[in-house]
Amino acid sequence: MPTFDSLTPPTDGAAIEIRDNALHVPATPIIPYIEGDGTGPDIWKATVRVLDAAVAKAYGTKRRIVWFEVFAGEKAFHRFTTWLPEDTLRAFSHYVVGIKGPLTTPVGGGIRSLNVALRQLLDLYACVRPVRHFVNVPSPVRRPEDVDLVIFRENSEDIYVGYEFASGTPEAKRLIEFVNAEFKWSVRPDSGVGLKPMSPFGSKRLVRKAIQYAIDRKRKSVTLVHKGNIMKYTEGAFKDWGYALAREEFGDVTISWDEVERKHDGVVPPGKIVIQDYIADVTFQHVLTRPKSFDVIATGNLNGDYLSDAVAAQVGGIGMAPGGNLSDFHAVFEATHGTAPKYANQDKVNPGSLILSGVMMLEHLGWSEAAETVVRGLEAAFRKKIVTYDLARLMSGAREVRTSEFATAVIEEF
Ligand code: NAP
Repeated sequence: MPTFDSLTPPTDGAAIEIRDNALHVPATPIIPYIEGDGTGPDIWKATVRVLDAAVAKAYGTKRRIVWFEVFAGEKAFHRFTTWLPEDTLRAFSHYVVGIKGPLTTPVGGGIRSLNVALRQLLDLYACVRPVRHFVNVPSPVRRPEDVDLVIFRENSEDIYVGYEFASGTPEAKRLIEFVNAEFKWSVRPDSGVGLKPMSPFGSKRLVRKAIQYAIDRKRKSVTLVHKGNIMKYTEGAFKDWGYALAREEFGDVTISWDEVERKHDGVVPPGKIVIQDYIADVTFQHVLTRPKSFDVIATGNLNGDYLSDAVAAQVGGIGMAPGGNLSDFHAVFEATHGTAPKYANQDKVNPGSLILSGVMMLEHLGWSEAAETVVRGLEAAFRKKIVTYDLARLMSGAREVRTSEFATAVIEEF
């Protein structure tokens, strides 16, 4: 147990532990949470009611989450005059699994982002975004029900990590002079420059996690999305390392699409998970025109960033997209939208993103019955067109409810 400067952990409940390379979840796990800024407290209050009710429905008094409030963002600043207290990082690290609402990104430099700090401290190398449609939720596409996929985005490498120098700086000039002289490249001397590192280690552990997820959830395929036709030694290598990993570590349960065509007349042998790859630009077309081709997607940091939001837009957009940042065991689940400050404390916005992030958290704990209970409640509420303002304005015949009323409706449908 770490020593906290200003927090007092709950006296009931127990910490989740990592032992013998496995997650050990007690019946009363202590879960740290950050309610978030702006509309965060509204959607958190709704979410915690739904999650607690689902756990009670699924397990009676046998299991219960013991919530532990920790602080970041505005609330932390008001209490402790820091946007990110060390206590918060200690709590997420010690208790292994946590959840957070949206946080204000303060304007002005020098402030450590919680997401970056947690990602580095806990090595949360996979950003996981499941995307599925709920009946009646408005969508810009004709068959949103065909979208049911999970994106695994590599979180620690790629051009996204920010190894870059601004145009005209001595560092940029030095790097350009070096590569132009050493490698006979012809980078314009006044360019801004960045590095795009992608390693076998980083790529393989991400693909490993995606394949393991596909096995655990009985998914049919894992698609490696890349831009390897142009960036052969980074994006292309990601694809090659992905296929190699599938062969080396999951050869008994996976089969490449190439092999399905060559040896099985295009028919996937029963029980095998197909490993295929798509170029990123084609993927953006196909997730729109034939989303059923995709099941689990494993991709690099930048591709994953774009793709996650593009696919989420097909199923109801920003209020509905959940996410989680995961290492092998540590995990922090979060609403993927921002704080929507103009609606703060109005009990108005859609808590769907945070509730669905809670579903991911329950699944991560292995509490699948509770996760399924929440999904059942959400499905039924949407079927009855009980929705918050953001969806109501796009639907005919909707019953518009407040954030808290939406939570009540979901619970009543368990
Ligand atoms: P935002 O908070 O995501 O809000 C933009 C718009 O999206 C809202 O005005 C609203 O649209 C809609 N929206 C967002 N959340 C919703 C919800 N739960 N239900 C229904 N509609 C929702 O983006 P922003 O205004 O650009 O950012 C505000 C603050 O959040 C900034 O400080 C930003 O840095 C921060 N932020 C934090 C995170 C995070 O912590 N993960 C992520 C992104 C942004 P309508 O007005 O059309 O209804």
